[in-house]
Parts: sequence; structure tokens; C-alpha cells
Amino acid sequence: MKEIGTISRTKEVLDKFNFNFKKSLGQNFLIDPNILNRIADKAGICENDNVVEVGPGIGSLTEQIAKRANKVLSFEIDQRLIPILKDTLAPYSNLRIIHSDFLKADVISETENYFGKGTTFKLVANLPYYITTPIIMRVLEEGMPFESITVMLQREVAERITAKPGSKEYGSLSIAVQYYTSAEIVMSIPKTVFIPQPNVDSAIIRLTKLDKPSVSVEDEALFFEVIKASFAQRRKTIFNNLSSNLKYESIYKEDVLSILEKSNIDPKRRGETLSPAEFALLANCFFNKINSK
Ligand code: SAM
Repeated sequence: MKEIGTISRTKEVLDKFNFNFKKSLGQNFLIDPNILNRIADKAGICENDNVVEVGPGIGSLTEQIAKRANKVLSFEIDQRLIPILKDTLAPYSNLRIIHSDFLKADVISETENYFGKGTTFKLVANLPYYITTPIIMRVLEEGMPFESITVMLQREVAERITAKPGSKEYGSLSIAVQYYTSAEIVMSIPKTVFIPQPNVDSAIIRLTKLDKPSVSVEDEALFFEVIKASFAQRRKTIFNNLSSNLKYESIYKEDVLSILEKSNIDPKRRGETLSPAEFALLANCFFNKINSK
């Protein structure tokens, strides 16, 4: 039988089940077997790998992953797709479909149940575009045992994730993702390989987990608060942003100034020019100040 991700088979499946797309669930299905294979290639899936997928749709990417991996655990929110997946993926015995919202599911327990305790996984997906950032951040922040994340998403978000200091795309998302992983765009994707076609261009990114975070901080929550405050209004200087947005009783305007000077950071600079290491230095100085009182 033809692969699920071919145009003809996809149309057959959609017709057979009388399926209509829900825009609100980010349903843009891939209809190019070449691209589906490239995603699996870029994820470097080997026969011993366990893979988590978000949003299998009618199973076109799931099929390519199942052919290469040890086991696949796939989370799909749309109940209408569950019987379709049972049908299209019937030939594969190394997969489990969970009908659930990935953002609400107990992902760690589900992976432990299916892959075994202490097992790592690769996350591979053509993500629903309305929640790409929450999905990626959930995997990063909740300490899930992932090795890498290889996903298709909007090109614009891919550029923000991989951006370097000094560029207009660089911001809190770039720093947060690059704190946990090394991030790269591995391929640009045209709109024409989806049904229906999305309004935006797409890209595949690969995030490879670092052995330890890229910079060393005393208090992660404070590090991310300092970053958020620094980018609150992009046109403002780092001094103005920190003075008005970092809310700590023990931190006065003059403390912000002296901490910037101590960290060798010109108060007139903008947040987008600071490297993650400079943000770490700043956050550690604020930490010492807050904890010295
Ligand atoms: N993997 C398929 C493909 O490449 O053709 C479909 C990808 S489509 C871009 C996104 C899929 O994610 C849809 O099947 C949609 O129903 C599902 N989805 C949307 N929100 C979700 C959520 N919160 N949790 C799990 N799946 C979700």
C-alpha cells in the first residue's frame, strides 16, 4: 500500500472518513513523502530510539518514524482522528496513540509506562502552529528526559529560537531555548507541501539537549525574570527596562545602576545586545543583592 503521506493516499483517507480540517487545531497535514523522510533523517532516528510525537494527524509522519524507531508514543487532541489512526497505522505494532492535549497530558508518566523508567526519547513532530512555543517550552522546563527535539514550525518562530545576540529576532525565547539546547534550523519548507496550505513559511529546527545549561545561574527563575524584564519594551534601555519591570522590594533604581556597572554593562545598551552570559552575570548580581538584605 502507498505511504500515508502521498497526496493520493491522504485524499483517500480524508474521503473515506469524511474528515474536514479544523483550523483552530493547527491542522495542516504534510503531503510530501520526501519531506516526511527528511524530518525523520534530520531527527537521526535509529532502531533503538524511542520517539514522542505531538499531533499525528492521519499518521503520515508517525508512519515514517515507526519504520525507523524502536517505539513511538503519539499524542493527538482531536478525537475524530483516533479511529483514522487505528486504521492507517494498523500495520505498525511499535506505537501507542494517546488521545490527549499534549499540554495537559502527564507526558513523563506516559513515556515511563510505554518506554520504561529511566529511558530517554527524541521528540519529533510537525507541530500545530498555534502552540509551538508552549509545547517546546513545556518539554524544556519540565525536565523531561529528551535527547533532542526535531520539529516543523513557522519559519519566523524558528528564526527567533535560533537567533544570536544583536539581531532583531533575538529575545527571551532565543535565550530560554539556547539555555537548555543547541538550536539550529536544518531545513526551510515551502507552503506547498501541506494540505491545506498554511499562511506562513515553515522550517525544521533541531534542538539538541546540552549536558548542562549553557550558562551557570544561581537562581533560574530570577534569571528568566531578569530576561523578561529586559525585553519588556524593546526600544528602552536595559536600565529603564530593569528599573521599571524587575519588581523586588529590596531593589531600588540605584541598585539597578550599580549592578549594571559592576557587571560591566553600559546602562544605555538594549536587552537585545546582551549575550546569555551577560544576562547570567546580571541575574547572579541581583541574586546576591536580594539575598544580602
Ligand atoms: N503530523 C501530521 C502531519 O505532519 O501531517 C499532522 C500535523 S498538524 C500540523 C498538527 C496536529 O496536531 C493535528 O493533528 C492536530 O489535531 C494536533 N494537535 C493540535 N493541538 C494539539 C494538542 N494540544 N495536543 C496534541 N495534538 C494537537
